[in-house]
Amino acid sequence: MLDTPANRPDLPPEIARRRTFAIISHPDAGKTTLTEKFLLFGGAIQMAGQVRAKGEARRTRSDFMQMEKDRGISVSASAMSFDYSDFRFNLVDTPGHSDFSEDTYRTLTAVDAAVMVIDGAKGVESQTRKLFEVCRLRDLPILTFCNKMDRESRDTFDIIDEIQENLAIDVTPASWPIGVGSEFLGCYDILRDRLELMDRKDRNKVAESIRIAGLEDPKLAEHVPPHLLDKLVEEVEMARELLPKLDPQSVLEGHMTPIWFGSAINSFGVKELMDGIATYGPVPQVQSAEPRQIAPEEKKVAGFVFKVQANMDPKHRDRVAFVRMASGHFERGMKLTHVRSKKPMTISNPVMFLASDRELAEEAWAGDIIGIPNHGQLRIGDTLTEGEALRVTGIPSFAPELLQSCRAGDPMKAKHLEKALMQFAEEGAAKVFKPSFGSGFIVGVVGPLQFEVLGSRIEMEYGLPVRFDSSQFTSARWVKGERQAVDKFVNANKQHIATDHDGDVVYLTRLQWDIDRVERDYPDVTLSATKEMM
Ligand code: GDP
Repeated sequence: MLDTPANRPDLPPEIARRRTFAIISHPDAGKTTLTEKFLLFGGAIQMAGQVRAKGEARRTRSDFMQMEKDRGISVSASAMSFDYSDFRFNLVDTPGHSDFSEDTYRTLTAVDAAVMVIDGAKGVESQTRKLFEVCRLRDLPILTFCNKMDRESRDTFDIIDEIQENLAIDVTPASWPIGVGSEFLGCYDILRDRLELMDRKDRNKVAESIRIAGLEDPKLAEHVPPHLLDKLVEEVEMARELLPKLDPQSVLEGHMTPIWFGSAINSFGVKELMDGIATYGPVPQVQSAEPRQIAPEEKKVAGFVFKVQANMDPKHRDRVAFVRMASGHFERGMKLTHVRSKKPMTISNPVMFLASDRELAEEAWAGDIIGIPNHGQLRIGDTLTEGEALRVTGIPSFAPELLQSCRAGDPMKAKHLEKALMQFAEEGAAKVFKPSFGSGFIVGVVGPLQFEVLGSRIEMEYGLPVRFDSSQFTSARWVKGERQAVDKFVNANKQHIATDHDGDVVYLTRLQWDIDRVERDYPDVTLSATKEMM
């Protein structure tokens, strides 16, 4: 059954109308363009181009942002809310670059579905595949948008086959493209028997939609030239025979993805995709937590931090914790319990991100994302409740794949550097290890670009030039086991031991051989490549 508000009387209507999702794609496939069109049709912006223009004005503020611009990557993730017909969409932006996959992973723990954008000429690309795999770990429902159909693109069956085979998911066409490249006319809406015609002259205009009584309707011939019509009828008949039919339940379980064809830049196919998200996308889902799950319709408010962003406003050293509401109806000024510290927190100035402006969030429902400005109390993985000691689970921290030592250019500034590094560690931008020997820090990241970003941010935000040097270590593992066994291991391996920003013990490794040796010689301790954030 479809998750429409009418079909979910068990949920408060405000929750049933929420759709919280992220867009996953390979760089250049059209994620920014599609986001902009979503905001345009969601009434959050008046004119296409605004997102970028605003982004640019903001970016000029700093070198770091300059770097982001130069490289054409989006380093930070944020969330945007807008209404579309009866629905409230919360679109959570994911960083597109593979160097930031850990951040992306955590962002995907805060959404209920993903929209996968692929380029019609390129099909499934490397980054799409990686992000898809992350979605699959959680069986996230995925809706697919095949973009740039106004350009020469691949054969429709080829595209669908490639997704099916490469990603091992059933694909069902929601629309079917008519013509390719300069001959691209629009799509036949398979789900609603409509003809959607693209307007090439006005890029922000929504396509003309013509109701059609099936493929035999003579009206089709009035709009589609004979050679394209023959091909369309033949292909759609074949698709109906060979490809699986849309099964909403299978979509919700993440086993089937409906695919829409379109051209984001021409605003084409975007509304159909939005209707699809509303109709086939999931309502806010149950959240896994200890000692019990959290259901969205629970009266009491609960939420968890999936991202922390520091220094969003360089003038104020504030941090914003992005919180996904897991249950209840939040109102501004509420007092919530910060479960990790057991301390109460009055949430007096939460923000919601409407397009690229911040606004005070007077209220929020399960499914919404709010930003909570704070001075560092809130960390990734933290849970907020109305008192119950619940801890949201499933937000991992991964062992870094690259390590470098980090020193302040000015040795007198070591304390300063420690403060800066700890902050970035809490933000989740890097792993910071303090070795039990010598001075200095070891910084761990997933991709090399992160060192550069970190270096420029420390310099810019703390006025502290830093040096990264190669380290003899290549990876790190968290050490787990009985206290005594861990102590014995630590004492015998001091040259490899460090602590992370939470004070947890890690073992720094040079080669796989180090890990093998520990496993052989210390059967009582375990080396782990992940740690739950809490
Ligand atoms: P992102 O890297 O995934 O965010 O991609 P962008 O949205 O920045 O788009 C990458 C490039 O593709 C830009 O030059 C866009 O103008 C262009 N683009 C986006 N959508 C379309 C489309 O539907 N057709 C064509 N021809 N170009 C598009």
